[in-house]
Amino acid sequence: MEREQIKNNGIRLIAVWYNRLLIILLAFLPLSLILYIDYQTSAEDKFVAHDFHVIAIGSSTLFSAFLSYITWRCYKATGEELLRWLVYGFLGFTFIYAPHGFLTHYSMDNIWVFVLYGPASRLVLAFCFLVAMLNYGKMVTPEAIKNKKLYFAIAIFIVINVLVFWVAHLTSVNLNWWRLLAEYLSISIFAGSVLWMLVQKIRGYMSVLYAVAMIWFALSCLSFTVASVWDHQWWLAHIIFSGGFLILSYGVVQAFLTTGSFKTIYSQNELFQQIIHEKKKSEQALIELQKVNQRLEELAATDSLTGVANRREFTRRSEEEMSRSYRNRTDLCLMVIDFDHFKEINDQYGHQAGDKVLKEFVKLTKEIMRPSDLLGRLGGEEFALLLPETNLRSALKVAERLRQYIEGNSIAVGKQKIKLTISIGVAEYQPKVDTVKKWLHRADEMLYQAKDRGRNRVEADSSEQKGEEHGL
Ligand code: GH3
Ligand code: MG
Ligand code: MG
Repeated sequence: MEREQIKNNGIRLIAVWYNRLLIILLAFLPLSLILYIDYQTSAEDKFVAHDFHVIAIGSSTLFSAFLSYITWRCYKATGEELLRWLVYGFLGFTFIYAPHGFLTHYSMDNIWVFVLYGPASRLVLAFCFLVAMLNYGKMVTPEAIKNKKLYFAIAIFIVINVLVFWVAHLTSVNLNWWRLLAEYLSISIFAGSVLWMLVQKIRGYMSVLYAVAMIWFALSCLSFTVASVWDHQWWLAHIIFSGGFLILSYGVVQAFLTTGSFKTIYSQNELFQQIIHEKKKSEQALIELQKVNQRLEELAATDSLTGVANRREFTRRSEEEMSRSYRNRTDLCLMVIDFDHFKEINDQYGHQAGDKVLKEFVKLTKEIMRPSDLLGRLGGEEFALLLPETNLRSALKVAERLRQYIEGNSIAVGKQKIKLTISIGVAEYQPKVDTVKKWLHRADEMLYQAKDRGRNRVEADSSEQKGEEHGL
């Protein structure tokens, strides 16, 4: 068993590392393509397709706009600051990348107007996504969420667009150098985000997608640095970028469709673990609840002072025994027991002593009753004893024995020994005629008779015998 356990743990560990390796391989997969294209194609090999480029950029800016909206909704729902910066990232990309698309034909006149919007948009994206990660875990209240900040960000993006347009027309500077600087800066910032996540140990399903996307973005920038416009590397750089974009957008859409939060999106594995954990917890809670319910039922059925059945429970059990007696044609008797001059006990020894007497009485009675008999407290110092499979004659004997037993045993309360007596009324169950109420009432009448006739005695209801006599 233990060996099996060790083996399982070992396989699990390998699976966990394989899983990590998969993520790393996926993250750096574009690198192989970059190297392949770099070695196998020449910069002279061009694929000039303006319309295709317009469609590709147009659709990616539309995607980005849609994602900005989705992420904004998530931000509004959760107040996670990280999401606000993701919105800026997507929006910035939408605004700054769009000119790169629709100015594609402009590349004939001024190639830099067309080219520079690419690195500019990636730099803005990298910056916003880094700030997003730096804000991981920060929350704001719903009141702090303002559309104004969004408009402000859009204004900045428009200013950046104008700036890029202006820079593209500068003839005195080496624009290629600036382009490369922007790409390298973006690579560093994307890598910075991933490093930050590693150092801060930011874990979770979304974080994995985020980190992989950041690496793809960085590799896309790398691809752009070795590319020249319209060559194969240049197209590949676009593809890698959109790959990163798709990975990240997958995570964002998952967030939108589930919890709306970046922090609490779970992988299938995490969900399973949670379900197992929750299942265990709810099973445990159910067991506890059953225990509590059982205890509550016991409490509702017992008399708190003496621990015997209370009147309600005694009535319920009597009804059960009555129907059993009726079905099986067995005898069933009942006795009602009341202390004689109990008030005097209270007056003489105090109410607490009276309570103690009641408890001791229960102990004494239990000593001589059968396990199948049921003792109940009807109220005050009045008890009842239910005797299944017992006829009136035997019940009388039991009652008499109990009466003598109590009379013969003094009850110790502290240092004092209290002598007392009981009176008992006995009645046999009469099928078809008796309800619990009627039956108890007959036993009660016998008890009054016992009191009337001088107390410390047993009286039995003989109406059934009378019935038999009538039948004769
Ligand atoms: P009798 O022989 O006629 O039955 O006289 P009694 O004094 O016992 O009269 P009765 O049965 O009518 O009165 C019952 C007394 O028992 C009244 C009350 O002071 C006392 N008693 C009722 N319940 C409790 C209880 O829970 N604890 C204590 N200590 N006394 C109780
Ligand atoms: Mg009494
Ligand atoms: Mg009484």
